[in-house]
Amino acid sequence: MPEMPEVEAVCRRLRAEAEGATIRRARILRPSMAKGDIEEACRKARLTRVERRGKNILLHLSSGPVLHVHLRMTGNLYVTVDHRMLVTSARAVFELTDGRGIVFEDPRALGRIALLERDSLPEVGLDPLSPEFTAEVLALLVRGSKRPAKLFLMDQDKVSGLGNIYAAEALFRAGIDPRRAVGSLRRPRIARLYQAIVEVMRAAVETSDRLYSSPGRLIEAERQELMVYDREGEPCRVCRRPILRLAQGGRSTYFCGKCQG
Ligand SMILES: [Zn+2]
Repeated sequence: MPEMPEVEAVCRRLRAEAEGATIRRARILRPSMAKGDIEEACRKARLTRVERRGKNILLHLSSGPVLHVHLRMTGNLYVTVDHRMLVTSARAVFELTDGRGIVFEDPRALGRIALLERDSLPEVGLDPLSPEFTAEVLALLVRGSKRPAKLFLMDQDKVSGLGNIYAAEALFRAGIDPRRAVGSLRRPRIARLYQAIVEVMRAAVETSDRLYSSPGRLIEAERQELMVYDREGEPCRVCRRPILRLAQGGRSTYFCGKCQG
């Protein structure tokens, strides 16, 4: 399942290759995955901006509305040199005036594409890759919160895009017990957490970006070397004690009982 860093990598590529391009026409190949009159809105529309909000991809059209794409489990969105060259799992194609195409591919057909008005775009929490995310802002967000640190990080209303993997990795790097009430962290520890989140997410985007160097099927990203996630019973890479697992909010949390005290 694409995590936020993979979606960011998809957006970066689209920005570099197709921002400013003009769509000649859109073809929806699997209508059950699409909502709204996409064909009409895309006719001779320019793709003015590629925006990411959490895992939502927003393609702003010069005609006014916005195409909202969600990749869900197996979706991918990429530019192909010839819009006629399509794989069988292509669900929509946006033919560009220069002959290229933007392909929405999804083998399992669980993704969604919808036409939205500008005032009804999805709202998400603060993006850890945005310049607005700072140690000071994180300190304000955690103030007074009794939420366990892991659940706080996974709460998309506060900080968006940190899934199960990256929340666990950031807490390990910051040396924070995932069960600790996040509002009880002292300022230097919050600063370390901020730094850890940014480092983990940047590294993940870079890894994802390398893996998307050629357009094609979205593959499960080869993750950066993980310190704790999915390593129950294996030795901690720092102290050699076995990594522990516990359930939090219905998900598994992996951590080191010694390094995260
Ligand atoms: Zn350890």
